[in-house]
Amino acid sequence: MDVREAAPAVVTGGSRGIGRAVVERLAAYGAPVVFGYATERARAEEVVEAVRAAGGSAWAVRADLAEPDGVDRLFAGADEHLGGRLGVLVNNAAVTGRTAFADASAEEFDRVLAVNARAALLAMQHAERRMAGGGRIVNISSVSTAWPAADEALYAASKGALEQLSRVASRALGPRGITVNTVSPGTTDTDLLRDAVPAEAREAVAGMTPLGRLGRPEDVAAVVAYLAGPDAAWVTGQNIRADGGLV
Ligand code: NDP
Repeated sequence: MDVREAAPAVVTGGSRGIGRAVVERLAAYGAPVVFGYATERARAEEVVEAVRAAGGSAWAVRADLAEPDGVDRLFAGADEHLGGRLGVLVNNAAVTGRTAFADASAEEFDRVLAVNARAALLAMQHAERRMAGGGRIVNISSVSTAWPAADEALYAASKGALEQLSRVASRALGPRGITVNTVSPGTTDTDLLRDAVPAEAREAVAGMTPLGRLGRPEDVAAVVAYLAGPDAAWVTGQNIRADGGLV
């Protein structure tokens, strides 16, 4: 099955950053794409318009993945536009929950884990039910599992959970012809990075990166597109770092 060229896709967090680049890349290969977002309606509409202007098909569905029924709402929207079919799922949406270790609260733990890990588990369950002829699942983690900062307890814990869910899912869904892989970006120039890391520190990380710059959303989208495509048919349970050699 050539999932890359035509299979319908769902991408979480497609309104900006890496998710937007993934949506645009999959749509450019001819995939109809439904993507989720939380609050940024105008930016989501901009992505839909950009995809359509380039000749592709995309629809945006608002669904807060911190809510227990957020994933159900996303897939209800996806079914409406994709007719219940699915070939590719990319779990990309995340929040940083950056806070001093001593201030990490129970409420914040639950919120960060819900968006970054629980939603991915529930989305994979939804995907399995719709991937009748096999499929591709790509989960976006982070180099923070290998190189966690002191104020990233919740984020790093959530990404650690996501990586394990991904490995387990590769075993559970393999017999259905579904591959499950993880992509771990390094520091990538998006809102998430700019909100969490001051400009000086961003420049310092670019200087420490062997390839000499920050990542771009398109750098990560290219790796996702490979894993979502026919050339990766024999690759599952892997975690690929797309970080310019940082870690
Ligand atoms: P951005 O902050 O730029 O975009 C986040 C996306 O997730 C947006 O589309 C946002 O929607 C959506 N989102 C956030 N919270 C929710 C929620 N509660 N419910 C539904 N959707 C939500 O992030 P990036 O593009 O930087 O990151 C994408 C992925 O890459 C994440 O998994 C992140 O952890 C990972 N990553 C990023 C790195 C970086 O340096 N940028 C480094 C390593 C990993 P809305 O626009 O509506 O808010």
